[in-house]
Amino acid sequence: MGIVYLIGAGPGDPGLLTVKAKEILECADVLIYDYLANKEFISYCKEGAEILYVGKKGGDHTLPQDKINELIVKKAKEGKVIARLKGGDPYVFGRGGEEAEELVEAGIKFEVIPGITAGVAAAAYAGIPVTHRDFTTSVCFITGHEDPTKEKSGHNWEVYAKSNSTLVFYMGVKNLPMIAENLISNGRDPETPVALVRWGTRCNQQSFVSTLENVAEEAANRKFKAPSIIIVGGVCSLHDKLGWFEKKPLLGKGVVVTRAREQSSGLVSTLGKLGACVHEFPTITIMPMADYAPVQKAISSLSDWDWLIFTSVNGVKHFFKQLDESGLDARVFAGLQIAAIGPATAAALVAKGIKPDFVPEKYIAEGVVEGLLERGVKGKKVLIPRALIAREVLPQELEKAGAHVQILPVYETGLSENDPAPILEALESGKINYLTFTSSSTVENFFNLVEPEQFHKFKDSVKIACIGPITTKTLEGFGFEPDIQPEEYTIPGLVDELVKESAE
Ligand code: SAH
Repeated sequence: MGIVYLIGAGPGDPGLLTVKAKEILECADVLIYDYLANKEFISYCKEGAEILYVGKKGGDHTLPQDKINELIVKKAKEGKVIARLKGGDPYVFGRGGEEAEELVEAGIKFEVIPGITAGVAAAAYAGIPVTHRDFTTSVCFITGHEDPTKEKSGHNWEVYAKSNSTLVFYMGVKNLPMIAENLISNGRDPETPVALVRWGTRCNQQSFVSTLENVAEEAANRKFKAPSIIIVGGVCSLHDKLGWFEKKPLLGKGVVVTRAREQSSGLVSTLGKLGACVHEFPTITIMPMADYAPVQKAISSLSDWDWLIFTSVNGVKHFFKQLDESGLDARVFAGLQIAAIGPATAAALVAKGIKPDFVPEKYIAEGVVEGLLERGVKGKKVLIPRALIAREVLPQELEKAGAHVQILPVYETGLSENDPAPILEALESGKINYLTFTSSSTVENFFNLVEPEQFHKFKDSVKIACIGPITTKTLEGFGFEPDIQPEEYTIPGLVDELVKESAE
């Protein structure tokens, strides 16, 4: 017999999943998930795990609750470990209780992993503590949408209205006029502050504060829809003072990241922390070489060289992988001079215990050439582990300066077979503010996947950011001008420029 974990996925911010939930996702055989749960969590599942979507969107049930229950029981009887993931907390308006009862009846083992419920999290991200000694002694979670088949309402509006409790309504936007009306007619002060938080904890979070008597009209004017949390009570007056999330510099800005997935995590996470809605659209894939014999040979005779120049983090990664596979370690670098083309490459080397002897001030090939000339590269033997196809400026200029250069391909880059449909759709619906290019090949491959003519109509609404002059030049070749190019040709430099641009 299997086991079922009823797991709360939290309100949307992927960081708000619990450690325990992640551990279960990593080992589950089956994942059964809902509409509001973050899709990112699927990536935690092990290879071969069965992924089943049973969510509902509005009134449109993909699978009715009884069928969901049946499915869970059936899978558990097959002896599987099942992660049943639900938005927020499974026992707070999540029908997790019903699913658990069903499991008990079927004699199936289960555990509950609570999640952070939207009523608390969306409020906190909007600057509203649901309890606060100056305002209230209790908090009440209420459904704003009772089971329509119920004969008699379970609400006691008089109690809600007369208590000083903070009232947190789930699923209430449609019924907001009725909710406000019931509270006022039962005696709550019409001036009571009310907050609405839509898409709480996500990059597209929006919130506002009004009063019980005006909130319905204001929500309609602002076109506030589900999913929103409605918070009623004095604590809402802290919204402006304690709000922090919506102050993030890139909040709600749609940013496309075109780097290879293998390289994009740092940029994606930095943008996410700044509040951006990141759209990953990898245009490049990084592949190992078919044959590593030349690399192995070079590694076994490293002492023949004077300089070793790393031009990318990937170069470092693949070179060290080969080093490891040949049973050697960093001692082979003794006596060699080592250069890194930029700070990220340098950091990758430092992580391997190698402090580069030289990192140029300008993070492009031309900068390396200049610096190495100063360091007397003439007549020296230089080995450059890098991608099979890359700019030839570095080796050519070094040769011109009298160095003996050998290129050592340690990986290949290829065009990512990415479906452009989702990105075109996001562009079409105005969700994209920035398109980022971090190398010439991201530009070339982007316009391989999205026709330049197709992109033309977004020219004015989408700002293009290029990491440096070489990337810019490639972009210009496709008939577009960048709006942003940092002075320092690095990812942090690029991010800083996006932040500056957004503040304008
Ligand atoms: N079990 C969930 C609630 C499911 S009911 C939990 O504990 O959070 C669905 C309702 O939750 C939505 O109609 C909305 O009122 C609320 N909700 C869920 N996620 C939300 C979010 N990110 N921001 C605002 N409200 C949210």
